[in-house]
Amino acid sequence: MFLRKGLPDGRERLIEARWDKVSMTELCTIIGQKDDASVSTIEHLLSAFAGLGVDNAMVEIDGPEVPIMDGSAARFVEAIDEAGVVGQTALRRFLKVVKPVRVEHNGAYSELLPGERGLSLDVEIDFAAGVIGRQRKRLDLSPDTYRRELSRARTFGFLRDVERLTKIGLALGASLDNTVALDGERVLNPEGLRHPDEFVRHKMLDAVGDLALAGLPLVARYRSFRAGHKLNVGVLTALFADRSAYTIVEAETPRETRRVQPSRGYQPAAAAFVEAG
Ligand SMILES: [Zn+2]
Repeated sequence: MFLRKGLPDGRERLIEARWDKVSMTELCTIIGQKDDASVSTIEHLLSAFAGLGVDNAMVEIDGPEVPIMDGSAARFVEAIDEAGVVGQTALRRFLKVVKPVRVEHNGAYSELLPGERGLSLDVEIDFAAGVIGRQRKRLDLSPDTYRRELSRARTFGFLRDVERLTKIGLALGASLDNTVALDGERVLNPEGLRHPDEFVRHKMLDAVGDLALAGLPLVARYRSFRAGHKLNVGVLTALFADRSAYTIVEAETPRETRRVQPSRGYQPAAAAFVEAG
């Protein structure tokens, strides 16, 4: 849930971080009404929450865009760790996929399949540029695997796209501090890549954030090929359009996996709920 502040009329608006509130997905995920109150670039922050098993949080934001930070979810993970998370007494609810759902576009696809436990991901990308090429990664999502394998993977872009995007008012803030910049076959960032397959890891980080828009943690297997935000929101739309494709299940017992670690000078805005499954 986002509390959008800093609006011209001085009022605040609550915007739910949910698939049916998404208004545009050209490059990033935006929730809310474009001309009214909206928040863009939510996917890396939502990814950090979902990756760490936080499914109840209030984000207060005083501008229209979540800061890009270093282009990954690393800073958000640090901030959540610093604030601490707390288990709640209510039983945790999960969205369990019971029937395959798939959306496709020009050979790219995004699909959700029944799974037994938590969310497992299988992401494949295929870029003409040899510096990326074909990469595939599989992962069973947990706070540990998220931290280690995904949280530091940065967003990436090609120089040739920058001019086009700047023309339509996007990517204005892209720089080597927040993007892996590619020029043909070269990585321009002097520090190089954080992982040899950082690109597919980032796509998976994005998918974790997009799937968090389901509103509940998923029990499912997710698989995608060359998918982006649009197809990921599309597969959620398809899932919710078919009431026989999912059920809501409750955890049997509330379980706290970590205690609150209040940190100096920072008051968590809301209690967060810790991964139980
Ligand atoms: Zn991203």
